[in-house]
Amino acid sequence: MSISQPTSPGLWVSRFRITLKVVLKHILAPVGFLFHRRKGIRVLLYHRVNTHDFRALGMVSREISVPTGNFRRQMAHLSEKGFKTISLEQCRAMLAGEIPFQEKTVLLTFDDGYEDNLTDAAPILAEFGFIATVFPVLDKIGMDNRCWPLSDTDGLGQFMTTPELQAWLDAGNEIGSHTMTHPVLTHLDDAQLHEELRASRLGLQEAFGLDCIAVAYPGGDVDMRVAKATREAGYELGLTTRSGTNTIGTDAILLKRTEVSATDTALIFALKMRGVFDWLGVRDTVLYRKVMRIVNAAAAGLTKAPKARPS
Ligand SMILES: [Zn+2]
Repeated sequence: MSISQPTSPGLWVSRFRITLKVVLKHILAPVGFLFHRRKGIRVLLYHRVNTHDFRALGMVSREISVPTGNFRRQMAHLSEKGFKTISLEQCRAMLAGEIPFQEKTVLLTFDDGYEDNLTDAAPILAEFGFIATVFPVLDKIGMDNRCWPLSDTDGLGQFMTTPELQAWLDAGNEIGSHTMTHPVLTHLDDAQLHEELRASRLGLQEAFGLDCIAVAYPGGDVDMRVAKATREAGYELGLTTRSGTNTIGTDAILLKRTEVSATDTALIFALKMRGVFDWLGVRDTVLYRKVMRIVNAAAAGLTKAPKARPS
């Protein structure tokens, strides 16, 4: 007896986008060998690690969820290649020239604060003696991602609660800010911008008794005005989504990060660690982000569920 499979337009759009991304990555990889690749601290950007059924996830989570088995293989790859993870403070001190700069260092980061970071990623990090930083959105702690477009249903988009974030810290990991509400920072006026940065930093410091020195810019949206406000709010590290490595002389408030996504095969991950995709930092431009917002809005239109969505 055959079981009927869901065939929503969203599923086909997801499959098309993911196939396209995998194909493009393999086509574009050789281009990276033509560019000079700089050594330095590589910051990896993850969002989710889980074993959820691809079809059950929302469109965004399908692309940002690294399967747990893949994550373990990625951490094993780092370990075999001799990489060590560093803390935010070690990263800051190394970039400032206060402690010796070490090759083969990596800073692992997780944006948004999903619960699966604790349930699926943390045990694997511990297995390899690695640490990572999670960047929760202060107002979304203990909630789920249904407030965002193309999100998950059935509780699959759960963010960590305060006790879960404490458990994450207790395991030796770290926390940084991802703002109060996850806005497009470059669209905010000066007062709103200051409040998003300042209040989230103070909120995390009060809740967990830590010194919050880092912010991950939501969606990687940052310009010189946001960078200046970030420094003024007391942060020492700001994490973008622009690919590349960081070394002495890199502006610590505009750190480069390399995103790891659901479409990264073992080969693509290994090439990313070698900097083969760093030239794609050109994606992190205002024009690219504008185009992607239009593409994603079109995808959202195509995948609109028949039932009423919350406004
Ligand atoms: Zn985010």
